[in-house]
Amino acid sequence: MTDVIVAGAGPTGMMLAGELALAGVDVRVVERRATAELLGMRARGFHSRTIEILDQRGIADRFLAEGQTVSAASFANARVDVGDLPTRHPYTLGLVQSRVEEILAGWIEELGVPVLRGREVVGFAQDADGVELRLADGAPMRARYLVAADGGRSTIRKAAGIGFPGWEATRSTLIAEVEATEETPKGMRVDATGIHGLTLMADGRTTQVLVTEQQLGPATEPTLADLSNALIAVYGTDFGVHSPTTISRFSDATRQADAYRAGRVLLAGDAAHVHGPTGGQGIGLGVEDAVNLGWKLAQVVRGVAPDSLLDTYQAERHPATARVLKYTMAMSVTQRADPRVDALADVVADLMSVDAARTRMAALHLGLDVRYGAEGVGHPLLGRRMPDLDLTTAQGPLRMFTLLHEARPVLLGLGEPGSVTAGAWRDRVRSVDARYEGAWELPVLGPVPAPAAVLVRPDGHVAWVGDGTDAGLDEALARWFGPAPAPQA
Ligand SMILES: Cc1cc2nc3c(=O)[nH]c(=O)nc-3n(C[C@H](O)[C@H](O)[C@H](O)COP(=O)(O)OP(=O)(O)OC[C@H]3O[C@@H](n4cnc5c(N)ncnc54)[C@H](O)[C@@H]3O)c2cc1C
Repeated sequence: MTDVIVAGAGPTGMMLAGELALAGVDVRVVERRATAELLGMRARGFHSRTIEILDQRGIADRFLAEGQTVSAASFANARVDVGDLPTRHPYTLGLVQSRVEEILAGWIEELGVPVLRGREVVGFAQDADGVELRLADGAPMRARYLVAADGGRSTIRKAAGIGFPGWEATRSTLIAEVEATEETPKGMRVDATGIHGLTLMADGRTTQVLVTEQQLGPATEPTLADLSNALIAVYGTDFGVHSPTTISRFSDATRQADAYRAGRVLLAGDAAHVHGPTGGQGIGLGVEDAVNLGWKLAQVVRGVAPDSLLDTYQAERHPATARVLKYTMAMSVTQRADPRVDALADVVADLMSVDAARTRMAALHLGLDVRYGAEGVGHPLLGRRMPDLDLTTAQGPLRMFTLLHEARPVLLGLGEPGSVTAGAWRDRVRSVDARYEGAWELPVLGPVPAPAAVLVRPDGHVAWVGDGTDAGLDEALARWFGPAPAPQA
């Protein structure tokens, strides 16, 4: 029986499959699409923390080499500079989702993950030992765990009976690739309904259309007539649009699964939460889900950690995502031209001129301010992302993120060599002695006291901070990496 089947080869499913493969888990991906081609327009980029996570696995350069970086975000039309945030990647990377998926597909292929395309999951049944998948083609498939990374309309989430509460859509937008017989205007237009724009693509024939509908559209697939009507309402003409290659509709509906887990079935990415695309948060949230869940599920599958470790996935990711969902709702309100929105934009622009407000907003936008666990408990590093320090080791200079390439936990000793070790957990946790002379600076918090040692989880979050003693280390090791193995006879 396969250890884990991941349903969906979108960004979340592929990132999770990579994480599981790195941890030595037998994983396969089942994907409804018959080919890797991504029809329709989706994401155009992602932010710092996602780039950092890819850097933690040694693959950020593959993405950076192909996209354009921008060191600013915008909120309510106010420019928010992000270039001075304490990260190696203080920017957003512009890169279309189809390319993001191709690069991730290349990575998991190198890791030996089978991706079974043209296979649609239509249901499942679970028992004490595993999950029996039902596929549209009728072929049986069984795994010990199933992860639903099958997108916002997740069949698996619905079949599991997991609630998806949230806020209904208030606005819908059509996005399409078409041909036009008339010349189209350049640039974006913002009016009381929302944003609209037409862009002629490099082939000189295809036009990308983004047009907000006058009335909230239905959940059904949009037609060329819907597109034409929406364009006429805004521009007075439909520019003779014809021959669409894709037309789809997105909305600002915002929902989050009330459980990320039903027994042996777990949800990740859009299957667990949906929101409007304003602000480009979707890929990052899915990638963060994947790296939070991957090492935990791997340890449970291998019998190293108890099943209860999986409950920390929801405990950590649900609140972190809920915060970002609210942020996207706030941002989407401002995508309209209206005197009250303009007034709000002026207030926000004024606030953004205060440095503390700007860095707080920037860190939220870039995904750099996530903290797992209770605020204000212990060292400020606890639960936050470990910075990518330039370390000096006995083997020479080394970046902290390089130590995370294998997706294994790291116990970093920064004091006397050998003063802190993983002890009974040494086969599960890599101990590294290093020196670090620079400042410790965290997004939003600024400088924090230098720790004597840090236990870093495979997702890059800090699980324990040493003060020169090993007080609390065994508890942290047991909590995150399973009970201490019995001593060898
Ligand atoms: C117009 C638009 C613009 C966006 N812009 C951005 C942006 O700039 N930045 C950003 O970060 N995010 C953006 N997003 C959001 C982003 O596209 C999603 O958040 C992201 O794709 C989620 O990834 P995922 O892997 O969780 O889900 P998906 O990408 O939806 O992948 C799910 C996969 O599961 C497959 N699948 C579905 N059902 C089944 C089944 N039953 N069996 C097997 N396979 C199945 C699907 O074919 C698909 O490949 C945008 C979204 C839209 C609509």
